[in-house]
Amino acid sequence: MTDCIFCKIINGEIPSAKVYEDDEVYAFLDITQVTKGHTLVIPKKHVKNIFEYDSDLACSIFSRIPKIANAIQDSLPGVKGMNILNNNGEIAYQSVFHSHIHLIPRYQTEEGFKLSFTDNSKSYTNDEFQQLAASIKKTIESVS
Ligand code: AMP
Ligand code: ZN
Repeated sequence: MTDCIFCKIINGEIPSAKVYEDDEVYAFLDITQVTKGHTLVIPKKHVKNIFEYDSDLACSIFSRIPKIANAIQDSLPGVKGMNILNNNGEIAYQSVFHSHIHLIPRYQTEEGFKLSFTDNSKSYTNDEFQQLAASIKKTIESVS
């Protein structure tokens, strides 16, 4: 796609700190370095976000992640864990609309990264909870 910053990075029109490349996948350091080694893994095919993936594209991207994640851990002293994040849509904080997976190595509790989940379990009766699952399950079955 001509007007996409990540397509331009893949094509070499914009420089990047590349860590991995093959026929389908490209990985490079995120410019913001939320933590040291923060890396983006992207498909070479321009897709906006997860809603445009098919299973082949998902396989190609997600199958590379363990190798890249392990390389980050093995090459940077002090990595104790890693958050793997994928923002889809503006509401979910996606700012670049070429799909990408964030690999954010973690060194300590308090650093440039915060993530919190609100516990809303008390807002659902068991029936509502089961109905919610059933509705998603039905849709999955209708497209499989
Ligand atoms: P998101 O907010 O999930 O869409 O993440 C987009 C990420 O792309 C941000 O973390 C940016 O720092 C990163 N980014 C944008 N432009 C570049 C660039 N030219 N090189 C490296 N990372 C970039
Ligand atoms: Zn693109």
